[in-house]
Amino acid sequence: MDITKYEEGFYILDDGRVREFLITGEEEALLIDTGFADSRTAEEAEKLTKLPLKAVLTHGDMDHAGGLSDFHECWVHAGDAHMIPQNISVHELQEGEHITAGNYDFEIIHIPGHTYGSIALLDRDKRLLLPGDTVQKSGPIFMFGENRNLDLYIESLKKLLGYADWAEVILPSHHGCPVSREYISYCLQDAMELRKGTLEGKDHPSLPCRSYRGKWTEFYF
Ligand SMILES: [Zn+2]
Repeated sequence: MDITKYEEGFYILDDGRVREFLITGEEEALLIDTGFADSRTAEEAEKLTKLPLKAVLTHGDMDHAGGLSDFHECWVHAGDAHMIPQNISVHELQEGEHITAGNYDFEIIHIPGHTYGSIALLDRDKRLLLPGDTVQKSGPIFMFGENRNLDLYIESLKKLLGYADWAEVILPSHHGCPVSREYISYCLQDAMELRKGTLEGKDHPSLPCRSYRGKWTEFYF
């Protein structure tokens, strides 16, 4: 696991496949996403803080929720509650709700599309956006199979554009990191081309989807 101290009390954990964010507060630490089941994210986080960990999910995909076996409860948007193992108590996150730890105050923005319960976390003072998988440089952004909706994804990127002034730094869960605020509109433009059918697709060698490369990012659709 590659660990970067982004700022005092803010760590980026990256196992080469997916990254998580650890923010230490006074009484607890936020663990934003838990990685794959074999990422050992909680174990790594516990080397960085002795505080109890509060697992907050950007969405319910297995590369973000896989580490929940180390937890009894998690915070996730209702749209992805069905993706969480039954033995984990779910606290539903609401649009506009704030989650705080240490110097960070994150507002929850519901951005359905990649999954129905995808959220972004925005700290307006820090000018920092954690978009989960919705904004990515290069990609691929998974948009095939159940739980995905391209039209909602496009609407959510338009919604995120409204927050772009506060999103000076974007820390995505995969691939290039950090990325600039322009990637919100870049992903939107590519997604709209995908919807129009103007991107050329090719069969993926092992996944049940086709890959479509846009100007800035790629979709598995
Ligand atoms: Zn992911």
